[in-house]
Amino acid sequence: MTGRTHDLAAFTALNLVVILNPIPDISLATAITSLLACTFGGLAPDLDQPTANIWHKIPAGSFFGGILSNLLWKHRTISHSILGLVIFGLAAKFALNWLATFMTVNTDVIWAAFMIGFVSHLTIDTFTREGVPWLFPLNWYIGIPPLAFLRIKTGGNVEKYLIFPGLLLFNGYLFWNHYSFFVNFFHRVF
Ligand SMILES: [Zn+2]
Repeated sequence: MTGRTHDLAAFTALNLVVILNPIPDISLATAITSLLACTFGGLAPDLDQPTANIWHKIPAGSFFGGILSNLLWKHRTISHSILGLVIFGLAAKFALNWLATFMTVNTDVIWAAFMIGFVSHLTIDTFTREGVPWLFPLNWYIGIPPLAFLRIKTGGNVEKYLIFPGLLLFNGYLFWNHYSFFVNFFHRVF
């Protein structure tokens, strides 16, 4: 999937989890950082390719992207697996503990948001032709449906005209259907 679909999927997953789970009272700083962490989590698995969206957003990004993508083996290996999820999860915990030394934020909520983004990435990539090596280092690419030709082509028409608008509509539906919940939520945060 492309970066913008991953962005939107991560946001959708966060939206769903927020609706389905009672969330603690959080500060504005925690809410904003969580949103950023979720977006970052949604793009992080593709750090293994120097063309990843996120590298274009930082100076000298393609240079560092090239180095890191070499470290992470080839595209769609360790960063697209349960093992990668654990490693990135631990790294995020570590980074957040450091952040908490100078910022008053709820790191548990931010960490959960990062993980939600990360899992959403692997989940929707599972529906693409290439599949996802969830059990890396086992070289087994898992996809839904099992027949690769029935799956979605990254950047293809199905993604552009069906998945992306579908996710947008779904978010619209969630906001509309849980309108008072969100009004309440924003009141508590702001
Ligand atoms: Zn990916």
